[in-house]
Amino acid sequence: MGEMNQNMTQKIKEKVEEEVNPEEIPGVITTTSNAISDFIKKTAAQDFINWGRKNSLWFMTQPMGCCGVEMIATGCAHYDTDRFGIIPRNSPRHADVMIISGYVTKKYLPALKKLWEQMASPKWIIAMGDCSISGGPFYESYSTVQNIDEIFPIDVFIPGCPPRPEALLEGFIQLQKKIAAKKDKGTNY
Ligand code: SF4
Repeated sequence: MGEMNQNMTQKIKEKVEEEVNPEEIPGVITTTSNAISDFIKKTAAQDFINWGRKNSLWFMTQPMGCCGVEMIATGCAHYDTDRFGIIPRNSPRHADVMIISGYVTKKYLPALKKLWEQMASPKWIIAMGDCSISGGPFYESYSTVQNIDEIFPIDVFIPGCPPRPEALLEGFIQLQKKIAAKKDKGTNY
């Protein structure tokens, strides 16, 4: 009797699986990870997530060279970065964006790498000033790191010595555009 019931149940299950394909029922999404990832790709969900990300870029306050002073000024009331969702945070655990604001000495590089690793993904990184991009006035110096883009996945470069707060703000706006266009490096990091 028990075996008969089992066979019946198995037959009903097979029949249902044969006739009902959940993927073909409009509005029904199977709860497998593939289905969720397909849903995100095929719908505007990714656009919506990116909209939230680009409008809440919290940057870490770790001023480095003289560019760091401009970075601090950008965070002050005059520039009101909050209106773009750009807010300074002093913990890497809370920050989305790291700004390399000046020269990176070989001695400081391990600490900078550690800060970057402590940030949660998705995360973005901006190289601010000639020193961070190519060494600037410290080009080929014995103590500074050159070509920082070989070490970190830089999304935006802001040239200048130092770039003014307006330039940093423009850099953030370019980063927002990259995130919206899904051309940033940080989302998939
Ligand atoms: S780019 Fe100019 S202002 Fe910025 S850290 Fe280097 S020397 Fe200082």
